[in-house]
Amino acid sequence: MNMHSNYIGGAWTSAARMIDVISPSDGRKLAEIPRSGAAEVDAAVSAAQAALDGEWGKLNATARGRLLLRLSQLITRDAEALARLESDDVGKPVSQARSDVTSCARYFEYYAGAADKVHGETIPSLNDHLVMTIYEPHGVTAHIVPWNYPLQMMGRSVAPALAMGNAIVLKPAEDTPLTAIALAKLAEEAGFPQGSFNVVTGLGEEAGAALAAHPGISHISFTGSREVGMLVQAAAARNTIPVTLELGGKSPQIVFADAALVDAATAIVKAITQNAGQTCSAGSRVLIEDSIYDSFTADLAKRFRELRVGAGADDLDLGPLVNAKQKERVEAYIALARKDGLSILAETEIAARTDNNGFFVRPTLIGDVPPEHRLAQEEIFGPVLVAIRIKNEDDAVAIANGTPYGLAAGVWTADMGRGLRLAKRIKSGQVFINNYGAGGGVEMPFGGVKASGHGREKGFEALYGFASMKMIAIKHGG
Ligand code: NAD
Repeated sequence: MNMHSNYIGGAWTSAARMIDVISPSDGRKLAEIPRSGAAEVDAAVSAAQAALDGEWGKLNATARGRLLLRLSQLITRDAEALARLESDDVGKPVSQARSDVTSCARYFEYYAGAADKVHGETIPSLNDHLVMTIYEPHGVTAHIVPWNYPLQMMGRSVAPALAMGNAIVLKPAEDTPLTAIALAKLAEEAGFPQGSFNVVTGLGEEAGAALAAHPGISHISFTGSREVGMLVQAAAARNTIPVTLELGGKSPQIVFADAALVDAATAIVKAITQNAGQTCSAGSRVLIEDSIYDSFTADLAKRFRELRVGAGADDLDLGPLVNAKQKERVEAYIALARKDGLSILAETEIAARTDNNGFFVRPTLIGDVPPEHRLAQEEIFGPVLVAIRIKNEDDAVAIANGTPYGLAAGVWTADMGRGLRLAKRIKSGQVFINNYGAGGGVEMPFGGVKASGHGREKGFEALYGFASMKMIAIKHGG
């Protein structure tokens, strides 16, 4: 049994109370982690501030970039062990966890190269002044991440913050903290100065809330649910600090009759079943032009029935959900569909040899769902796809925009004019035409509008979110 510690100020420290970490594939106890509270959070924030005042704060951007690159190399060196750990902890198929490790390493590599390429401008103004802008780190940044893609979310949030010279305090989700602890060990090995990289584990309402409310932090990067996002934003407001919110979605995939339908069906099934549907940008509504609705849903149903569900280590198409609560939540939505007489077009069998203590849910395709129905409005966060008929472009736009969310959308059509018209009219942070996710590249800015949040992560754009611009004006006379 692994008993883990927090990583604060370059030291591994325990807490008085511990939390069990449970395997989603079979319910067995994997490890214990500190159940931190205000005291541990306070120590981590103080250590981060001391790092900014000390060795870390004195490093130049190139030196910071080299540390990030070293960390990326260490993640790649330990890729297989990290993938196995992530698969055990989250329940995801091990090959999906391998790709998460690759992404995490890539975030550190990308922002390593970017660290010394952010620079300000000089601005023509008065003849006898020189006006310039420079970018500075916010200070201590807080990173609260969810359980669905821990390694990816940590890389996405922490790497640009460190590249810009912030000192970070990372709070992983209590269900999936193990790779955060592994990442801290690698950061220590890479040589990050004491206090620049801190990890505090614990419950959201204790450690997470204490971190979000701490007066010593200068920015919060939060990825998680809309409900908690609102609490975090309120906490940030009390300290008048900026916050990046990456929240949920109810992302539409819009399919017109002229699309490459086999490609569309392949991508649409993948986008709702990857990570057992626990993906913020999962394409969870498919909007299908009336003339092909029956044949296209028949193809989707066939593909759903062929999906293989099993333990993460079995490396099939889908693993279990992360915990019992999520399983109950998703199954309640499927029960609601039955109660309301919605048409269940496919329900995948779960492999007979899966453990009864695992949190498995049958991937489910539901047809002719009214756009205003709860199943078409709320984020289910499981492998449940709802199909909706559309008449034309206007109908597609109205339904696509008709939820509180605005994270991602897919448009499938051979008519590029129509694709672009829809891309402009759909209210969401990203639109994919004839693909979904574009390979998930680290280089592509990502974020939401409406209830899906605000601020952008990934790409070069993220660096500006982790920096504050300062204007300097020098009067030199004329
Ligand atoms: P969650 O909001 O329950 O938890 C996210 C994190 O917040 C965890 O670390 C948790 O411990 C912490 N937390 C919980 N209560 C807190 C509080 N009161 N104060 C501070 N922190 C607190 O979310 P989840 O269930 O772990 O993740 C699923 C959600 O995340 C979904 O809605 C999903 O769409 C969203 N998500 C969004 C993105 C994105 O980029 N937009 C990416 C991944 C997940």
